[in-house]
Amino acid sequence: MSDATSLSLVGALLGACIGSFLNVVAWRLPRQESLIWPASHCPHCGTKLAWHENIPLLSWVVLRGRCNHCGAPIALRYPMVELLTAGLGVAAIWATPTAMGPSPHALGMVLAGGLLLSWLIPLVLIDLDRLWLPEPLCRHGLLLGLTSTALLGFGQGGTIGRMLLFQHLLAAAAGLLGFEAVSGLAQRLLGRPALGLGDAKLAALLGAWLGLAGLGLAVALAVVGGALVGGVGRISGRLGRHEPLAFGPFLALGGAAVWLLGNQTWLAVLFP
Ligand SMILES: [Zn+2]
Repeated sequence: MSDATSLSLVGALLGACIGSFLNVVAWRLPRQESLIWPASHCPHCGTKLAWHENIPLLSWVVLRGRCNHCGAPIALRYPMVELLTAGLGVAAIWATPTAMGPSPHALGMVLAGGLLLSWLIPLVLIDLDRLWLPEPLCRHGLLLGLTSTALLGFGQGGTIGRMLLFQHLLAAAAGLLGFEAVSGLAQRLLGRPALGLGDAKLAALLGAWLGLAGLGLAVALAVVGGALVGGVGRISGRLGRHEPLAFGPFLALGGAAVWLLGNQTWLAVLFP
């Protein structure tokens, strides 16, 4: 096997296992349950899962999407999230992010990318489930972004480190204040909140990871994506006139896209 193939395989396997844990996070965190105890169990009959019933992707396929004990269906979302994170695990290795300066540590960038992408998944799932972006997840994700920026930035020398950290701090503040301002303005004009409070915090998180230009591009992608999906949803009648559409998933998707392909690629796509 070539190095590239084995590296991708490691990324996919790690990604699938992380995805399995993120499924647990997305289920338990909004219910204020511990993330590590008790071990995984069937939400229907409560039977604790044996190790071979808990293998990412494989177990769901082997069990044909049903609990081995009570036969209750296991949502397709579980293996889909594991498949997605397996893909993101590979993507994090081959990503070409530009957010962390001219020559950041290569392995450090893969780890940082994996961390950012993994962090965004439960935020997206919980926002889709409950139109809610938990504040602690946003806050800790933001702090991890600033820490990664400092580590990767100062690894390239003091000047680059200071510049990057300042830029990313500024972007986090701009994301928070910008979104709160837009949200407040929309509330005045429309008489109802147009954006969730969590969207500003997620924008701040993305600013901490991506810097000003990256955040701007991520927001632009999110607006385009949200308008497309919202428009199609309303026209097709699948989304009611005043039914809210979670904006968090679009922001997260925009942020992930900017990390994976870098600023220049998206600048060329959005402003040809
Ligand atoms: Zn069961």
